[in-house]
This record gives sequence, structure tokens and C-alpha cells, in this order.
Amino acid sequence: MTAPARPHDEAHPDIHHTDVVVVGGGPTGMTLAGDLARAGHAVTVLERRAAIHPSSRAFVTMARTLEVLDSRGLADDLLADANTTEGVRLFAGATLDLTHLPSRHRYGMITPQTHVDQALERYARDQGAQVLRGTEVTGLAQDADAVTVTARPEGGGPASTWRAPYVVGADGTHSTVRDLLGADFPGKTVLSSAVLADVRLADGPAGNGLTLGNTRDVFGFLVPYGKARPGWYRSMTWDRHRQLPDRAPVEEAEVTRVLAEAMGRDVGVREIGWHSRFHCDERQVRSYRHGRVFLAGDAAHTHSPMGGQGMNTGIQDAANLAWKLDLALGGADPAILDTYHRERHPIGRRVLRQSGAMMRAVTLRPRPARWLRDHLAPAVLSLGRARDTIAGSFSGVTLRYPRERHQHALVGTRATEVPLAEGRLTELQRAGGFLLIREEGASPIEAPVSQAQRVDSGPALLVRPDGYIAWAGSGVRTNGPDGWQAAWRAWTGPAAEAVHTRR
Ligand SMILES: Cc1cc2nc3c(=O)[nH]c(=O)nc-3n(C[C@H](O)[C@H](O)[C@H](O)COP(=O)(O)OP(=O)(O)OC[C@H]3O[C@@H](n4cnc5c(N)ncnc54)[C@H](O)[C@@H]3O)c2cc1C
Repeated sequence: MTAPARPHDEAHPDIHHTDVVVVGGGPTGMTLAGDLARAGHAVTVLERRAAIHPSSRAFVTMARTLEVLDSRGLADDLLADANTTEGVRLFAGATLDLTHLPSRHRYGMITPQTHVDQALERYARDQGAQVLRGTEVTGLAQDADAVTVTARPEGGGPASTWRAPYVVGADGTHSTVRDLLGADFPGKTVLSSAVLADVRLADGPAGNGLTLGNTRDVFGFLVPYGKARPGWYRSMTWDRHRQLPDRAPVEEAEVTRVLAEAMGRDVGVREIGWHSRFHCDERQVRSYRHGRVFLAGDAAHTHSPMGGQGMNTGIQDAANLAWKLDLALGGADPAILDTYHRERHPIGRRVLRQSGAMMRAVTLRPRPARWLRDHLAPAVLSLGRARDTIAGSFSGVTLRYPRERHQHALVGTRATEVPLAEGRLTELQRAGGFLLIREEGASPIEAPVSQAQRVDSGPALLVRPDGYIAWAGSGVRTNGPDGWQAAWRAWTGPAAEAVHTRR
């Protein structure tokens, strides 16, 4: 599949025209590009790096992200080569149990970020997105009609210019797009001199769980790569008394010592692969939308890797924005694009709070506070309701978007686990677009959206392209202000028929 050709600009033959320019080809940018291309749009990814970022960085893909990947046909292949974990061992032996998640993925997938990056780049290219690597964006200007983006090839050469109705800055924590917009990135550094490393251990923790160990002065976190890399673990270590700048080299002895102190025993470090000393900031832009330009992923929010949220949140930002851009490009009211900020900014804020709270809990020093933490955590995590709230929040499956007061309570929640007569929702969503789920027993109706049938007693649903419920009610035949058509048109506008015909 290739992207549709754009009209040639006779007056400016050097300007490349496209529907959407995505700046940055990390997981966020590739998800966006793939979704937009899947919807039939011309989309160009401008990526500075000549090849995929080689370091493993994010290691846990959470249940909600696995559902998002499954609705793009990517989850099964990734899972085939990955380890999975059903729990996170936290303070004083307390375990955050993921096996009760309301998802078919009752676990976290452990695989190096490079594997997810590769799958998403393949998805974007297969759908027809143009991916230009070795191309660094250096300029951006927007007017009433479109955005002009200037880029230069890595290593020098003439600059190229792109013009598109919409641009997405998915260019990471040090986002050039954010700088070019003049958007500030308020927040602060919250942890320095943390060391991430891939380590081969002779005596690592047993089982497939994630293990956290800590004393008043150090912490260590170990994640087994399992069959993806037998014998290898991702380690994160930190020592209160060894605070060095990011560029200070990582020494094997340092990782070995801190891990032993944190875990309370020698775990037998045999080899250290990729490693990085880094600091963590907690920052979030005030607005995810700047006219025709949007910020997504790390360009919009950054936080500590504690809790493994960064890549997951970026992919879900992309899944939220892509279908709205699709509709706006198809003639829907561009005001629907404001809902991207409205829905995703609070989620980003929550992720900052959640990962920050976890990081502060891990690095607590005062003995009474540590005592309280070590006694409270096991008690809280043994309560089903508290466990489900915390696990659901970290895994993203209980995330919900705001709804209007008059709307059904299910609006804004995800529909993924609705039992269907044929297939599962994430399979049906691989075609993109809205999905109307009829109640049990209701026969198909004339409708300009795809349909499925549920096999339980729940209400009929209209599911958005990102898997969240746009409408719930007692009959798909009911028309009028409370019917599914009204909810559908609120998103798609008068161009709805045309949008559907394109698919
Ligand atoms: C050391 C480290 C450890 C991490 N560990 C974890 C972890 O354990 N768990 C977790 O969930 N997350 C972790 N993260 C964060 C995770 O990697 C990110 O959240 C995730 O990669 C965000 O994806 P993204 O696509 O938004 O941004 P990125 O993956 O950063 O991708 C942005 C892309 O934009 C490109 N780019 C930048 N500027 C330009 C430009 N001017 N022109 C063109 N292209 C440009 C970059 O080359 C890059 O490929 C870690 C990050 C780092 C740095």
C-alpha cells in the first residue's frame, strides 16, 4: 500500500505537500503515522536518526498498550518473543498482582523497546506512511491554512520544505517542535544519577516477576527479559551517595555493589550490556494543541521510568489523536481536535503524579516513613479493590475519558472486553473506524459504520476508533438526540457519509 499522491505545487515545486507531517519516529510518531496512513491519508514521518534508537529504554508494555497493539495486528508477534510478568514485587515483599486485570492481557509484556519500535515502524510503512530517516526538523511556521516545516538531512545538504494541514511533534523529551512553538515545559528534575543497564546475572531473582529492593540509601530494580534474552535482566539502580552527572561513565563495580545492597545478596553480575546514567524530570506542557500543531508522547510529558509509563502513554496519545485528525481531514469540525488535549492532558498529569509517587516511595529515607510504607503496602495490595485500582491504573485499562452529564455512564470507558458473537473487538478494529455493537438478539441495521453483536445482556454501544465508548443505549434503532447516530455525528459532522465511504 502506498500513500496517495498529493497535488504538485507549480508555484513552489520544492515544497512537498502531505496531509500530516509527524516529527519524530519513536513509538508515538510511528503509531500516529500508521493509523493515519491506514485511514487513507498521506503522512510523512521526519526522523533525525538514520536507524531505530538502539538502546532498550522502556521494557514493560502494559495491558492497555497491548490492546492498542492488538487492534493494529502487532501484539501476537511481539508476545511470541517476549517475557510476561504477572506481578511486581514491591516493598517488604508486597506484590502488585496483575492477574485480575479486566483484559485478556493479565500481565505486562517485557521486551526491549527496540522490538516495539521495530513493530511500529513496520506497521507505519506497511500502511503506506512515508518514513524519511536521517532528516532533522529545524523550522516550523503556521498560517491560517497549513503548517510549513523545514528539515535538513543529517550530515549536511540542502534543506527541504514540507507543507501540511497538520503537524504532530512526537520528537521526544528535547522536542524541537515544542521549542519552535515557544511552548514551555514546566516542571523539575526529581531524580539524578540513576543507572539503567542490561545485565546478565548468574543468580537473579526467581520467576518472571519484576523485583524492587531498597535500603535507606539505594534502590535496585530487576526485570527479567526471559526468553527474549535468557539470563539477562534490565536493572535500574540508584545510590543516594553517588550523585554524578549523566555523562559520568557507568562502572560494573557500581552496578554490582548497588544491586547487592538493594537486593540484600549478591545476584552474580556476569556481564553488562547497554547502560546509561540519566536524570529524571517531571514536566508537562500546558497545552497539547497549538493551532494546527500537536504535541504527543515525551514531547508533551516526561517523568521517571518508575512504573514503566512513558512509552505506553505516548502510544496511547497517538491512538487518541490519529482518528481525530483523520476526521478533521475528512471534513469534520476541527473543534473535535480540542478533545485531544481535553482527554489526554489529564492522563499525562496522572502519569506524572503516579510515577512520581512511586519514585518518592522508593527513595524514602526517614525510618518511620519507611516503616509505615513497608507495613501499609502489603496490607493495601492484599485488598482486592485497592489492588485492582492500582493495577488498573498502571496498566491503563481503567483509564476513562470525561463524558457529558447527560451521557450514559459507560461513555468514555474502553469497550475492549465486550463479548462478541464473532471475533474480539481488537480484531474488528484492525480495519479502523467506528464500530456499532448491537444488543444481544438485535438484527443488523442499515448503518454507515461497521457492526458487531454482543452476546451478553449489556447495552448497545458505539465504539470510537480508539476503542473507547462514544455512546451506550438500549436500542440501535432509536434515532433522535439520544440515539447512536447523534453521538456519531457529533464526532464526524456532516462529512460523515464521505468519511465512511473512504473506508
Ligand atoms: C535512558 C532512558 C530510559 C528509559 N526507560 C524507560 C522505561 O524503563 N520505561 C518507560 O516506559 N519509558 C522509559 N523511557 C522513556 C521511553 O523510552 C519514552 O517514553 C518513549 O520512547 C517515548 O516515545 P516517543 O515516541 O514519544 O519519543 P522518543 O522515543 O524519544 O522518539 C522521539 C524521536 O524524535 C526524533 N527527533 C528528535 N528531534 C527531532 C528533530 N528535530 N527532527 C526529527 N526527529 C527528531 C528522535 O530521534 C526520536 O527518534 C526511557 C527513556 C530514556 C531516555
